[in-house]
Amino acid sequence: MASETVALIVAAGKGERVGGDVPKQFLPLAGLPLVEHSRRALLAHPGIDRVVTVVAAGNESRVDGETAVGGATRRESVLNGLKAVGNADRVLIHDAARPIVPTSVVDRLLAALDGSKGAVPTLAVADTIAANGDALGDVVDRSALVRVQTPQAFDFAAILAAHRAWPEGEEATDDAQILRRAGHSVAMVAGDPLLDKITFPGDIALAEARLGAIMRVRTATGYDVHRLVRGEQLWLGGVLIPHDKGLSGHSDADVALHAITDAMLGTIAAGDIGQHFPPSDPRWKGAESGQFLQHAASLVAAKGGIVDFVDLTIICEAPKIGPHRDAIRDRVAALLRLSPEQISVKATTTERLGFTGRGEGIAAQATVTIRV
Ligand code: MG
Repeated sequence: MASETVALIVAAGKGERVGGDVPKQFLPLAGLPLVEHSRRALLAHPGIDRVVTVVAAGNESRVDGETAVGGATRRESVLNGLKAVGNADRVLIHDAARPIVPTSVVDRLLAALDGSKGAVPTLAVADTIAANGDALGDVVDRSALVRVQTPQAFDFAAILAAHRAWPEGEEATDDAQILRRAGHSVAMVAGDPLLDKITFPGDIALAEARLGAIMRVRTATGYDVHRLVRGEQLWLGGVLIPHDKGLSGHSDADVALHAITDAMLGTIAAGDIGQHFPPSDPRWKGAESGQFLQHAASLVAAKGGIVDFVDLTIICEAPKIGPHRDAIRDRVAALLRLSPEQISVKATTTERLGFTGRGEGIAAQATVTIRV
């Protein structure tokens, strides 16, 4: 049987230092709760099979995926998490306060476990370190020191036994020290400044800037046409528009939402709307197209993508789109849980030329911009 690797994220702390009523692991960072960033990064790593997040009782609904309930201290929370995992071959234990988890650090940790029961990412200390007092104290030899980060990687059975053997009433700052106390040596791999902890209020803005720097912008386009016929309703951008004709198609034929859906799928190279919702499938007969768009957006989110902007152009001679522009913006924004400022709706005619000019159909084109 292939070996199983689990990641445990500790998100049970109160995080008072950052301030506010919301514990820091749930503060918004680039539009997502802090903890969700590391959860997604760990889940997306090919070497990790399962992610369990340890939260304080009552906070289970604040995180996606599998959860376990924490204890009174960090150490108890980790032990509860290990018990909830039950069994695995290897475990990565990570603090939610470190939202950015580079793939390369996880690669190094997992490789180091081949020769060790535990491995941690470390960084050299670059600043001068001196004793703190009424006045500046003596300089400490920084070459003898390292900064220790998380995730920390362990042989599952070894770290579980070390936690169980730890003396009650004593605290440990991290799991590597708990493994060392049990008599094991802990390997060191190169850490990464991107793993820095969110400790002070300004750290959120810094993490957002770092996240922005490592995310890549992707833009994709979508295009669709449907026939205008009598006896159909006219749905455009999720809005029912009074008109003497409507669009004909297998679903509600909302040409605007179809164009945006195709653009959305394009940003992650996930094919087109016809592949995901084949017109031959009776389930989609008369279906509201908003669900197609939301499905495409969920695929982007599953890749860790953030939707930044949607630009839509509706091409028709009639009806006039202007009076419905704001309603369409609001509806598309609501479907995507974005602000209307992130949705652009434009309209044009084709000067009575071609099928749109003759009123035989409506065309729409869209671009969607995401960061991933
Ligand atoms: Mg269509």
